[in-house]
Amino acid sequence: QAAQPGGDTIFGKIVRKEIPVTLLHEDDQCIAFPDVAPQAPTHILVVPKKPIVQLSQAEESDAALLGHMLLVAKKVAQDAGLSKGYRIVINDGPDGGQSVYHIHIHVLGGRTMGWPPG
Ligand code: 5GP
Repeated sequence: QAAQPGGDTIFGKIVRKEIPVTLLHEDDQCIAFPDVAPQAPTHILVVPKKPIVQLSQAEESDAALLGHMLLVAKKVAQDAGLSKGYRIVINDGPDGGQSVYHIHIHVLGGRTMGWPPG
């Protein structure tokens, strides 16, 4: 478990407000802010304050937090005007393309998404 509240990744620093971001949402459980390298016209990250490392390490006791994060993803997508839809992504581990080991939901929208993903 991480030594610091919020964990020791870049997202821990953002959660602790050591690195400023444009906050699109904040509550007692999570924050949302734009991705620094957007892969779509809208690309928002939903990050819990609790530093769960990755989805595959989430536990039953995280169920309410994970559900809350999905509803926050819905809210920020609505706030961003993504009325034609959007994509929710959680990358897990090396094969999933995860680069920051503090769980997060990607909200991508503003263009048509291909399927299957590359
Ligand atoms: P992952 O690859 O772990 O699913 O996604 C990590 C995401 O975090 C990437 O899309 C990357 O662009 C984004 N990211 C990494 N560092 C920062 C940062 O310092 N600020 C912001 N806003 N996004 C970041």
